[in-house]
Amino acid sequence: MKSNILYTLVLATVLLISCNPKSKTSESEAVTYDASFVVEAEAFADLQILRYEVPGFNQLTLQQKQLAYYLYEAALSGRDIIYDQKSKYGLLVRKTIEAVYENYKGDKNDTSWKQFEAYCGRVWFSNGNYHHYSNEKFIPACTYDYFKNLVSTTPSNALPLNEGENIEAFTKRIQPIIFDASFMPKCVDLRAGVDNIANSANNYYEGVTQNEVEAFYNLKDTKGNAPSWGLNSKVVKENGQLTERIWKVGGMYDKSITQIVYWLEKATGVAENDQQKKSIQLLVDFYKTGDLKTFDDYSIEWVHDTASRIDVVNGFIEVYLDAIGKKGSFQSMVSMKDMEATKRIAAIAAKAQWFEDHSPLMPEHKKKQVKGITAKAITTIVESGDNAPSTPIGVNLPNADWIRKEYGSKSVSLSNIIHSYNVNSSKSGMLDEFVIDETVKNRLKKYGALASDLHTDMHECIGHASGQINKGVETPDKTLKNYASCLEEARADLVGLYYIMDKKLIEIGVAESEEVGKAGYDQYMMNGLMTQLTRLKPGEKLEEAHMRNRQLNARWVFEKGKQDNVVELVKVNNQTYVRINDYNKLRNLFGQLLREIQRIKSEGDYKAATALVETYGVNVDPVLHKEIISRYATLGIKPYRGFIQPVLEPVLEGDKIIDVKVTYPTSFFQQMMDYKKKYSFLPTVN
Ligand code: ZN
Repeated sequence: MKSNILYTLVLATVLLISCNPKSKTSESEAVTYDASFVVEAEAFADLQILRYEVPGFNQLTLQQKQLAYYLYEAALSGRDIIYDQKSKYGLLVRKTIEAVYENYKGDKNDTSWKQFEAYCGRVWFSNGNYHHYSNEKFIPACTYDYFKNLVSTTPSNALPLNEGENIEAFTKRIQPIIFDASFMPKCVDLRAGVDNIANSANNYYEGVTQNEVEAFYNLKDTKGNAPSWGLNSKVVKENGQLTERIWKVGGMYDKSITQIVYWLEKATGVAENDQQKKSIQLLVDFYKTGDLKTFDDYSIEWVHDTASRIDVVNGFIEVYLDAIGKKGSFQSMVSMKDMEATKRIAAIAAKAQWFEDHSPLMPEHKKKQVKGITAKAITTIVESGDNAPSTPIGVNLPNADWIRKEYGSKSVSLSNIIHSYNVNSSKSGMLDEFVIDETVKNRLKKYGALASDLHTDMHECIGHASGQINKGVETPDKTLKNYASCLEEARADLVGLYYIMDKKLIEIGVAESEEVGKAGYDQYMMNGLMTQLTRLKPGEKLEEAHMRNRQLNARWVFEKGKQDNVVELVKVNNQTYVRINDYNKLRNLFGQLLREIQRIKSEGDYKAATALVETYGVNVDPVLHKEIISRYATLGIKPYRGFIQPVLEPVLEGDKIIDVKVTYPTSFFQQMMDYKKKYSFLPTVN
C-alpha cells in the first residue's frame, strides 16, 4: 500500500482553525509566525493562491543558509522538466502565454484579457494546460480570434516560433493545442478497456502502445532489490525498436539537469555532515549517469541522514502522472526541521508502548513490543516541479518498497504550509456557517489547529504502528481486500481520537488541557458527519479511503450513542448542526469501535469488514448532502489552493556569500514572470 502523499484537496473541509502563533518554548528553536503576514494572494478560476512564511530561517547558521540557497537554486532549475513531462507541448504553451503576458499593452480590465489572464494563471498553477487535479485539458475562456490578435501584437522574437515560421502559421499550429479540448484531452487516461499509454497526453511515451511498453519492461528483472525500471526516461520507437531516452546530463533534459547538478555540487561543499554530503553526492552521480541503481543507493543514504537540519527531496519521484506507474515526475522540496513540532512528535512516539498497553484493544491483539514510527515536522523553504504551486502537506519517502522495508523511510509533515492553510481556513466562514454553539466555536478557534496536529501525529506515529494480526491470519490486503485501506485508516484515526482526550497528553507536555481533545472531537464529528460532503457532487457515494473512514467512524459512534444522546444532529432554522452532549461517552464509543476494527483486522473477518464499511462509510444522506453543498456554495470558497514560493537571495561581499535573505513575494503572476527570466533552460519542441 502506497500512502506517500497526504493532500488537502479541498479547502477547509477538515476545518483546521488557528490564529495562535506557535511560540510555547523559550529556547532559540521556538518558532513564531508573524501575525501580520498576509497569507492570501491572487484568486482566479477554481484556484486560490496563498503565501507561506519560513519562520526560523534567519536563525540558521550561515553554512545552513548557504546550503539551503544552493538547494533552492537546484530545485527551481528543474522547473521546466515538469511542463515537458505533462505534455510535449507544455513548454510551447507556457512560452507562448509568457510572451503575450509580458508584452501586452492593452486594457487590463478588458473582459477578454481577464479571461486570457486567468488562463495564464491556470497554466502556471497546473504546470501546463491539464488541470492539476482532474487531469483534464482546459482551454481559455476568451475566443481564438482574440488570442490570435494578442499573439500578432506580440513581438515575434519573444514567441517560440519555429525557424522560418511566420505568426500566421504559428497561431494555426498552436490552435488545437490551446483551444481544442478534444485534442489530447487527458494528461493521464486511466479508463478501463482503452490503451492507457496511447490515450494519455503526458510525454512519457511516444509512438508506442501500452502492450509494447509492458512487454518492454516485462523483460527486466524486478525481483528483490531491483531498481524502479523506467523511472527516469521517455520511451520511444527507433527503427522499429523500443528505446529509452534517459533524463540525465547529456541525455534528455540535459540543460535543466546540468543546472541542477551545478547547484547540487555547490551544496556538497557546505553540507552539514558527511552523511548528508554522501547522499547529495550520490544524487549528483545519479543525474550524471542516469543509473537507477545509484538512485537507490542515494535513497538509502538519504534515509540515513536524520541528523541534518536542512533536508532536500530532488528527483523523479512520484509516478501518478504515468498510467502504468513507472515514470517519475520531477519534484523538489527544500526544508528545515521544525524543532518544536518534531519534539512533540518524538514525545508521542517515545510513549508508544504506554499507549499500546492502555488501549482498548483486546489483550491478544496488542503488540507486546511496539515501536513508534518516528516522524518529523519540517518547515518548507521552497518547492518546485510537481510539488508546486499545489503541494502535499505530508510526504513519506522513498517510494521503493524494498528500501522502505530494509532501511525505513522518512515521514514528514509540512508545518508552515499547514499553518498557512489554517490561517486561510479561519477566514473562510466555515466556522460561522457550520458551528452554532459559541463555546464550541471559541474552543475551535483556540485549539482547533493543535488538536488537528496532535491527531495527525498520533495517527501516524502510534495509530498505524499499533495492534497485531493473529497467528496464521494473512495480511489485511488478502483478508480484507478492498476494505483494507479504509479500515486501516479508520483504525489509525481511532487511536488518535481515543488518546486525544487522555490526560497522558497533558502529562507529556503536548497538550495544555482537555479542551484540546474536545476541540478534536468537535471538528472530527462535524467533518465526518457533514462538512466533508462538500467534496462530493450530488448523487456521488464515498469512494476515497480516508473519506470513507471518517464517515464510518463518525456515523458509527453517532448511531451507537443515540440511546444515551451522546451526539445529536440538531436543526436550527432548517439548518443542520452537530452537537456533542457527552465527550467522555463519545471517547468510550471511539474505544469500542477501535477494539472492533482491530478484531476484524487481527482475525481477517471480511464479512464484518464489509458490513461495517458498507453500512456506515459509503452511502450519503442525499437531503443532508444537498443542504451542506448549498450552504458551502454561499461561502464562495475556491476548491483548490496553491502557493507562491519564498525567494532566497545571497548577500555578497565580493564573491563571498555573507548572508542569505528570505523574502516573500506577493504576486503569483509576477513570480511566474521572474521564474521565466531565471529558470527557462529547456528548448521548445515543435
Ligand atoms: Zn494513515
